[in-house]
Amino acid sequence: MEDYISISTLNDFIFCPYSIYLHNVYMETDEGLYHATPQTKGRFAHKSSDMKTLSTRKSDIFNLPVYSERFHLMGKIDVYKSDKKLLIERKYQLKRIFQGQIYQLWAQMFCLREMGYEVESIAFYEISTNKMIPVDLPSEVEEQQFTAFIQNFHSYNPELPIEINENKCSHCIYCNLCDKTTIENVYS
Ligand code: SF4
Repeated sequence: MEDYISISTLNDFIFCPYSIYLHNVYMETDEGLYHATPQTKGRFAHKSSDMKTLSTRKSDIFNLPVYSERFHLMGKIDVYKSDKKLLIERKYQLKRIFQGQIYQLWAQMFCLREMGYEVESIAFYEISTNKMIPVDLPSEVEEQQFTAFIQNFHSYNPELPIEINENKCSHCIYCNLCDKTTIENVYS
């Protein structure tokens, strides 16, 4: 499955495609080198579903590994409520929902469907406010846009020049390791 994309990297790819290249280069190194506060909270959000403490209902499936041959995607879903055919992604805090986060949820949905699970609705669940935030299923046009996005990801060449956005770079967890900029990140 070497040429499979991890669903968890879709949002980062939109933020900056080069960050995915850096992630792959440094993934074997000490996490403390680049993990900053927002990511730490994000990982905390997943901890209780990893530990299956959210619910004891038999119809709820947690932390299921999923994949799609159609998109060459792989990852894990957070929570699938089979009685409601509802897919949920838990986040610690969602002040704003980014397109990449919606793509991650759609990606999980496409994977689940390809694996034979029925998904009729999808949502984020914000832990800090205990709030469920429903998300629209992709329209036909949006599915085409998603497909094109995944194709771009598969064909990305890190040697090509990229446009530097100083604000993004200063909030990028790979900033201190990035050879495309000399900006310091705000977490240092
Ligand atoms: S520091 Fe800037 S150029 Fe480098 S990976 Fe991060 S956002 Fe991209």
